[in-house]
Amino acid sequence: MHILLMGPPGAGKGTQAAKLVQEYNVPHISTGDMFRAAVKAGTPLGKQAKECMDAGKLVPDSVTIGIVKERLAQDDCKKGFLLDGFPRTAEQATALDEILPEIGIQLTRVINIDVPKEDLIERAVGRRICRKCGATYHIAFNPTKEDGICDACQGELYQRADDCEETMRNRLDVYGAQTQPLIDYYQAKGLYTAIEGRQAIDKVFHDIVAALKGE
Ligand SMILES: [Zn+2]
Repeated sequence: MHILLMGPPGAGKGTQAAKLVQEYNVPHISTGDMFRAAVKAGTPLGKQAKECMDAGKLVPDSVTIGIVKERLAQDDCKKGFLLDGFPRTAEQATALDEILPEIGIQLTRVINIDVPKEDLIERAVGRRICRKCGATYHIAFNPTKEDGICDACQGELYQRADDCEETMRNRLDVYGAQTQPLIDYYQAKGLYTAIEGRQAIDKVFHDIVAALKGE
């Protein structure tokens, strides 16, 4: 099962990734983890990536793609993987299409957890987090019994600075502009499935599994 998982910030991609990794017993391959591993291992590509990051520069595509290729060529990816955060652009998707046949892998499906922008903004703006235990609530969808107080530990709730409408709107606009060409790319290849993300976590997961089975 070689899965590519996409989803805008706040759509619940992390939660579904964890469930998929467990269900299919495949490695979860995120761009961040891959970079950290390559840097830590001190591979030539890892060294190049580190130089860029230390200088505050964007890591060039050639380096990113090289790191992805090294990671996907490892043995644990043969039976499957959950790729998360790569590719980000149509150019990277094209590069991935060149890498995969070289290592004898075919993508099973590209899953996008789809949640409309206005819903994501509503989710973010209403989110409250406990200062003490980190529990997450929502003022409308998952409110605490007592206003501003954590149900679990009686800690004080706060709102993250990023969870404001303007920040979210900007992030989602950037994400959307970046992702649409990728969606078009995989749609044209017949690999793309959008999953309705405005459902209970288990129902979203059920729909993903069904899509992977080709149902
Ligand atoms: Zn708490």
